[in-house]
Amino acid sequence: MPISTGWPERVEEKERIRAEALSLGFSKAGFTTPERIRGDFLLHWLENGAEAGMAYMRRNIELRLEPEKLFPPVKTIISLAVNYFPGELKYAGPKISRYAVGKDYHRVLKKMMKRLFTFIRTLFPDVQARFFVDSAPVLEREIARRAGIGWIGKNTMLITKEYGSWVFLGEMFISVELPPDSPVQTGYCGTCTACIDACPTGALKPYFLDSRLCLSYITVEHKGEIPEVYKDKNHGWLFGCDICQEVCPWNARVRKTTMEEFLPGPQILLLKRKELLSLSREKFDEIFRGTPVKRAGFEKLKELARYCIPK
Ligand code: SF4
Ligand code: SF4
Repeated sequence: MPISTGWPERVEEKERIRAEALSLGFSKAGFTTPERIRGDFLLHWLENGAEAGMAYMRRNIELRLEPEKLFPPVKTIISLAVNYFPGELKYAGPKISRYAVGKDYHRVLKKMMKRLFTFIRTLFPDVQARFFVDSAPVLEREIARRAGIGWIGKNTMLITKEYGSWVFLGEMFISVELPPDSPVQTGYCGTCTACIDACPTGALKPYFLDSRLCLSYITVEHKGEIPEVYKDKNHGWLFGCDICQEVCPWNARVRKTTMEEFLPGPQILLLKRKELLSLSREKFDEIFRGTPVKRAGFEKLKELARYCIPK
């Protein structure tokens, strides 16, 4: 049974959960209701075919817009953000996006969420929960905005005042009603267009990302032949692309993550293109074990490396 006894008296519990989240290593925690999400931005994006080969984005639209359908007992969504910024990186060869140089964040965040849930159970023994880290149709950036974590920038990333867009997001749906935090109503991009101007492939318009042109999509999600746009304009990005984050003024003074898991593995930054082209499967497994790069797969990484020439 969902727990619903009204929330005003639960401010203290909410703050204890937030404090516990921070002590477990989360950088920010925010609380919001599971009310329906206005999906105009999603529908507009899909109408334009900007999801490219991510056909799963067309499925389960109702689940994305109605968090309750995903987990009917939900009364509160806790949005959790972790700073993963590993600092300025020097690559000997093709570049790997900062989010992928360390351990796979899905696993790291889920472990932290399990610990947080153990704590929540000490406050509410009957609480039920589900956790998500990119693992279900959840509009995580909009949920984070509603939970007061940050705003969505023109580069379509969730941006926080403290850690810029260098954050991983996870959501915990719980069956306990807690007072929501105030949503972030305004964006802080102002007249800046740095991300749009810097994108090498023209994938960005304000608040709109065309995945068909995005190096990050092409290198991580795209299946099949390597698109021409990648061959011509990859700017040395082999897995992911950080350009529209690197130029963002909100990312300029972010402190390095305190989580060792997100720092680069010993060999990742040393890889040269020549070595990538002759990489054995064993060496690939050794270098990328436990990182998000494993998801691209050995064959695809080598194929990308054929065209990936730093500019
Ligand atoms: S990740 Fe790279 S290619 Fe994609 S929108 Fe940003 S700058 Fe453009
Ligand atoms: S680079 Fe400028 S326009 Fe783009 S997200 Fe950052 S602040 Fe907004």
